[in-house]
Amino acid sequence: MALIVQKFGGTSVGTVERIENVAQRIKKFRDRGDDIVVVVSAMSGETNRLVALAQSIDDKPNAREYDVLLSTGEQVTIALLSMALNKLGVPARSYTGTQVHILTDSAHNKARILDIEEKNMRSNLNEGKVIVVAGFQGVDEEGNITTLGRGGSDTTAVALAAALKADECQIYTDVDGVYTTDPRVVPEARRLDKITFEEMLEMASLGSKVLQIRAVEFAGKYNVPLRVLSSFDEPNFDSDDHTNNGTLITYEEDEMEQALISGIAFNRDEAKLTILGVPDKPGVAYSILGPIGDSNVEIDMIIQNISADGTTDFTFTVHRNDLEEAQRVLTQVANDLGAREVKGDDKIVKISLVGVGMRSHAGIASKMFKSLAEEGINIIMIATSEIKISVVVDEKYLELGVRTLHSAFGLEEK
Ligand code: ADP
Ligand code: ASP
Ligand code: MG
Repeated sequence: MALIVQKFGGTSVGTVERIENVAQRIKKFRDRGDDIVVVVSAMSGETNRLVALAQSIDDKPNAREYDVLLSTGEQVTIALLSMALNKLGVPARSYTGTQVHILTDSAHNKARILDIEEKNMRSNLNEGKVIVVAGFQGVDEEGNITTLGRGGSDTTAVALAAALKADECQIYTDVDGVYTTDPRVVPEARRLDKITFEEMLEMASLGSKVLQIRAVEFAGKYNVPLRVLSSFDEPNFDSDDHTNNGTLITYEEDEMEQALISGIAFNRDEAKLTILGVPDKPGVAYSILGPIGDSNVEIDMIIQNISADGTTDFTFTVHRNDLEEAQRVLTQVANDLGAREVKGDDKIVKISLVGVGMRSHAGIASKMFKSLAEEGINIIMIATSEIKISVVVDEKYLELGVRTLHSAFGLEEK
């Protein structure tokens, strides 16, 4: 029998009734003899509610107190789920991140897991108990509560699976696996039986929120078998080929069908900044991007225009939350450099094609650009790497752009 870590997201524990359904599912695994460690998120909408509460007091709330507040959502669900399990006759114990001792660094709101103590969990498992752990939270060296960034319960689950050397980490959510793109945007999207860590990592970094990026990184690094499944489907204990068993994230295998493109990701969270008429001389990129980096704003895509009349334009993207700060810093830089103007625009989206098959195929980019052009979609920025091509377009073209590319590359067909 196996040791399985099962993570249930916000929608899956969104009501008491759903929590009781989750308890029933866990019982089915226990009845087969599996050892189960459960990770839960806050009930759906709860973390957003807490964020809004904090912001009603302060736009930039104190980071330590913000984590104390946000971590309460998960404490509610671990208790309720443990009660539901105990009521079904399945002995269960809830643990906060501090109680398990999920040690993190002190970077509040985006802490990284450093170490997990497994001693207590092991002895509970040996006594036949189900362990129910609060996702998304940890504790630093000084005993302060930390949180791992939005969507961080995925990372808690994978980190626990790695620490306990679990046989599988199952991420239960409101869709039955990883699709070629977000099925809420393209209803024809197709579920993938398998996807490589590398592709999943690109999809997550490029905006697919089905798994938190750090969870995929962790799973790849520590070789954790990771599966995404629906918490609303019945568990399928019989199938060897895992039909209806969600999507397995796996290493690249030789016999794996090498799709050219495995998926399309999009990101609505970026904004674009342009500094116009910068006197062009060596070191100009550094003098623009250096101060942005110093103010802790992360930069994603960058383009510099060819210079005309000794001046150049420079465009880059940042997270929408950082637009105001970046614009403030850039305006100062523009003054210092004698640039003409600074412009900010948050009405953009980034759409990306991802696929390991791209490595060995030419012509993908031109097909992508042609398909977008035929729909009258103007491309504002382009970035490529070995296994992805990203374009920035006006946000009003998000749905049309994703649907167009999905059908141009035949992603709805196997
Ligand atoms: P949970 O609360 O369970 O963590 P999330 O909302 O974080 O759930 O993630 C699941 C959602 O991810 C789905 O409802 C879906 O809309 C979205 N999603 C985005 N891209 C994809 C994709 N490629 N495949 C499946 N779901 C996706
Ligand atoms: N509750 C947290 C969030 O909404 C963590 C998670 O659900 O993974 O971001
Ligand atoms: Mg999530």
